[in-house]
Amino acid sequence: MTMHHKRMEEQCVTGWAARDSSGILFPYSFTIRKMGDEDVTLKVLYCGIDHTDLHQMRNGIHLSIYPLVPGHEIVGEVVELGSAVKKFKIGDLVGVGCIVGSCGDCSSCMSNMEQYCRNRIFTTNGIYKDGKPTQGGFSTAMVVHQKFVVRIPDKLSPEQAAPLLCAGVTAYSALRQFNGSDKILKAGILGLGGVGHVGVQMAKAMGHHVTVISSSDKKKVEALEHLGADDFLVSSNAAEMEGAAESLDYILDTVPAVHPLKLYLSLLKVTGKLLLVGVAPKPLQFESDDLILGKKSITGSFIGSMEETQEVLEFWAEKGLKSMIEIVKADYLNEAFERMEKNDVRYRFVLDVAGSNLN
Ligand code: NAP
Ligand code: ZN
Repeated sequence: MTMHHKRMEEQCVTGWAARDSSGILFPYSFTIRKMGDEDVTLKVLYCGIDHTDLHQMRNGIHLSIYPLVPGHEIVGEVVELGSAVKKFKIGDLVGVGCIVGSCGDCSSCMSNMEQYCRNRIFTTNGIYKDGKPTQGGFSTAMVVHQKFVVRIPDKLSPEQAAPLLCAGVTAYSALRQFNGSDKILKAGILGLGGVGHVGVQMAKAMGHHVTVISSSDKKKVEALEHLGADDFLVSSNAAEMEGAAESLDYILDTVPAVHPLKLYLSLLKVTGKLLLVGVAPKPLQFESDDLILGKKSITGSFIGSMEETQEVLEFWAEKGLKSMIEIVKADYLNEAFERMEKNDVRYRFVLDVAGSNLN
């Protein structure tokens, strides 16, 4: 094999797919496309498990295309390169996140915000340029255009890096506007799951004072002692919530369900921002006065650009942060999703793809 060996055939791979909206995963064999000049083939090593996977498997947010192979926090090893790929070499440890394509010439693409391109192609449950559904990282191998592949820094292990490719960059892209502030900002992280637990560490690493706002006190000790949070609020405790009124500069809202925005907006200082990243399956509500009387704002943020994805990996490595993960094999996948649904994950499942029995 030469350095730029290019496979001319489609390749058969094995993955795990949902066949219908029950969301139950079964082993599934399918073909991945032939390599183009700009493509990289990676052998998948690990893949993080995100709440969005669950939404997609169950047809929860957008229309799902079955069979659907989930997984968009992918870490793998480069095994083949297209002839025009100069950025990587065989054996490199690389990552792929939520998108694998975009148009390349709209205003979002031209300003390095390809995640907002209206023609972005999702890693899973998207339609690729060849007209076929894209399949995610719960699979032995993938072919991805080099633009949508990032390098994993030497200091990070592959399983540690996985959650950064979606959860990590989502928190980072939303929070980086507050990095380098000369006063100590008061941060709130609402929902301590996959995105929340990296958000807490990132906000701390940016020098902020961090309050976790959680639906129970079950994660309190961990949040304060292991993740480094400064404060912890239980959202159902009215006295605690009132005591914290108008105390926060921003809240990163990661809740994947309908929840009362009024309650959380009341925690923001004048001009405070609620940064919405959690996807609620039904409309959320607030009253005009909740914003108007405090010049507050609600903004949304969607994953991050490829540049930010590379940046968050470097940031995480440089600050010596550590995601809290539970590594699982494929035979545990369905149970892992059940546990995720019951809010029983500390704090990210990572699928050991290469270490799972494929047949
Ligand atoms: P996750 O691990 O399940 O964490 C969500 C956390 O929210 C839970 O740990 C829980 O924290 C809290 N929560 C769950 N159900 C709740 C309810 N009914 N009411 C109040 N709080 C509740 O999920 P994730 O992977 O972090 O993803 C979070 C959300 O972000 C999902 O909707 C996902 O689709 C979305 N997402 C968006 C982007 C983006 O680009 N915008 C990227 C990645 C993920 P406590 O126990 O602390 O209450
Ligand atoms: Zn575009």
